[in-house]
Amino acid sequence: MYLAAIHRYNDANPASHEQPMPTTKTRKPFPVPVKVKSKYDCLKCPGYCCSYQEIEINQRDIDRLAKHFGLSSAVAEERFTKWKASESVHLLRHRKDTVFDSICMFFDQDKRRCTVYEARPGVCRQYPDSKHCGYYEFLKFEREHQGDEEMVALT
Ligand code: SF4
Ligand code: SF4
Repeated sequence: MYLAAIHRYNDANPASHEQPMPTTKTRKPFPVPVKVKSKYDCLKCPGYCCSYQEIEINQRDIDRLAKHFGLSSAVAEERFTKWKASESVHLLRHRKDTVFDSICMFFDQDKRRCTVYEARPGVCRQYPDSKHCGYYEFLKFEREHQGDEEMVALT
C-alpha cells in the first residue's frame, strides 16, 4: 500500500533527470546545438600543435592506428609510440622537422598536414577544444606585425 502510493507519487512527479528535455516549436531539444565557427585556419599553419613534444595517446588510439595500417596493436604500439615511464603514458613518436626541432612522425613535412587524419588520436581530434587556437593567434599576430603572410613565427 505504502509502495503503491510511492509509485503513484513518482509517476506523477518524475525525478528532474527523468523529465523530458524542453523542446522548441520545431520539437528540437533545447538548447539547440549551435555550430561555432573556428577562428583559426589549420591550412595556414605550419602545425604547431603537432610539434608538441608530448602528444599522449591511449590504447584506443593505438588500436585505431593499428587498424588504419593493417598492423597488430602490439606492432603499432612499438612502431608509433614511446613509453613515458614517469607518467605511465604512451606518446606519439617524433621525427626531426624542417621547421620545428621535431614533429609527430605522422606529419607530412612538405604539405604540413597530418597523414593519418581519419585515424588520428583522440587528443588531436579535440585540440584546441575552442573556437580559438592560441598558436594560431600568435602566428596571426606575428604575420600582421611583420607584414608577411607566409612567415613562420617560432615560439
Ligand atoms: S596549431 Fe592550431 S591552427 Fe595550427 S594546426 Fe594546430 S590547431 Fe590548427
Ligand atoms: S597524428 Fe596527425 S594531428 Fe596528431 S599530432 Fe600527429 S600529425 Fe598531428
